[in-house]
Amino acid sequence: MANEKIPYKIYLEESEMPQSWYNVRADMKNKPAPLLNPGTHQPMTAEELGGVFCADLVQQELDNDTAFIPIPEEIRNFYKMYRPSPLVRAYCLEEKLQTPAKIYYKFEGNNTSGSHKLNSAIAQAYYAKKQGLKGVTTETGAGQWGTALAMACAYLGLDCKVYMVKVSYEQKPFRREVMRTYGASVTPSPSDTTNVGRKILAEHPGTTGSLGCAISEAVEAAVSTPGYRYVLGSVLNQVLLHQSVIGLETKTAMDKYGIKPDIIIGCAGGGSNLGGLIAPFMGQKLRGEADYRIVAVEPASCPSLTRGRFAYDFADTGMVCPLAKMYTLGSGFIPAPNHAGGLRYHGMSPILSQLYDDGLMEAVSVPQTKVFEAAEQFARVEGILPAPESSHAIRVAIDEALKCKETGEEKTILFGLTGTGYFDMVAYEKFHEGQMDDYVPSDEELAAYFAQLPKID
Ligand SMILES: *Cc1c(COP(=O)(O)O)cnc(C)c1O
Repeated sequence: MANEKIPYKIYLEESEMPQSWYNVRADMKNKPAPLLNPGTHQPMTAEELGGVFCADLVQQELDNDTAFIPIPEEIRNFYKMYRPSPLVRAYCLEEKLQTPAKIYYKFEGNNTSGSHKLNSAIAQAYYAKKQGLKGVTTETGAGQWGTALAMACAYLGLDCKVYMVKVSYEQKPFRREVMRTYGASVTPSPSDTTNVGRKILAEHPGTTGSLGCAISEAVEAAVSTPGYRYVLGSVLNQVLLHQSVIGLETKTAMDKYGIKPDIIIGCAGGGSNLGGLIAPFMGQKLRGEADYRIVAVEPASCPSLTRGRFAYDFADTGMVCPLAKMYTLGSGFIPAPNHAGGLRYHGMSPILSQLYDDGLMEAVSVPQTKVFEAAEQFARVEGILPAPESSHAIRVAIDEALKCKETGEEKTILFGLTGTGYFDMVAYEKFHEGQMDDYVPSDEELAAYFAQLPKID
């Protein structure tokens, strides 16, 4: 069954690694809408953004026109410690499913932080260092982003202050300790160390926190501490730019063997891994050079693309951040506490939101028990213990492969395997004990959050 010529793992040479990131905005006819000042509702200027973000990153955030942005040599050298990442032909999964489909996955879990987030963490830390800053603040949910940033900051000798969503801080002590091992300070959010944290605690005593709330705290901490800036692990244009390294490597590897994917699948939380994986393929699609089916997979319990509104919204619960036009469930939305599979942010990357709205990609949502079934099936044949987030993509890749089995089509399926799940065993335990249920928010619940969307004209 196996095509002898294609190895189980396609590795690139160091010399084949990308020298530049690819900025898909350059090829988009409809550009993502600009971030707005939450007070004036005018587009944020570079100067305003510079109070929150590092200068070079502000430039990248606002650059809708430059297709290729060189990756500084220091970042390329850091990448070489854990990249190029393998593109794996899932022969064992294909065999198990008895499908004629050819399945490939790009594996981003081969670094200590365990996910793709290190690709942007090192870039953001590098520009902060270059600007002569003392440190950075950020939020983290499950902890992968905080871990990645802690690693990058340790490498460059920067301070790293992490606000960690309280439920994760309590349920994921190991990830917290990894961050501390790399020298980061970790505060459970909401906390009493910021004005916005104290306000949220007063209004919602006993809250387990949310990403939106931790973002507000991290931004406040950055703007009120001299020599600090805020960094974010997903959603922003700059993060998708850095993550394009995933797609560029994948494209080079596939081109080497003459492989063209029919379907490209990725999990979508804030959209950074998917935006990175699809970047060069979407570029071809936008330029009319090739066509691909592109599918974003999100949890049914946090369905921003499939059930959200495409509107300007606050990026954070505390409403201190700029407004972003994106598919959103409303900045007050917090997924049910039994939601164990990550991907819990209320909004979606403005770039992906625009591409989705323009009909250039699809989205599906999947219930979490189905996600964990796929995770287990994958682990048992491919060996890798996948992150719950990544397993959303596995679910849909398996579903598509099973459709091929019915129709006899030999489609080529590519998906992003964003990370490993070693620190997510509490979620796996719930699944094994039959304590995981598939909470899906009702239309009425969502309507209440939509009613809170800011009115922008
Ligand atoms: C953070 C994370 C995601 C989701 O974030 P995106 O920005 O949507 O990519 C997916 N998988 C893993 C392993 C993660 O750590």
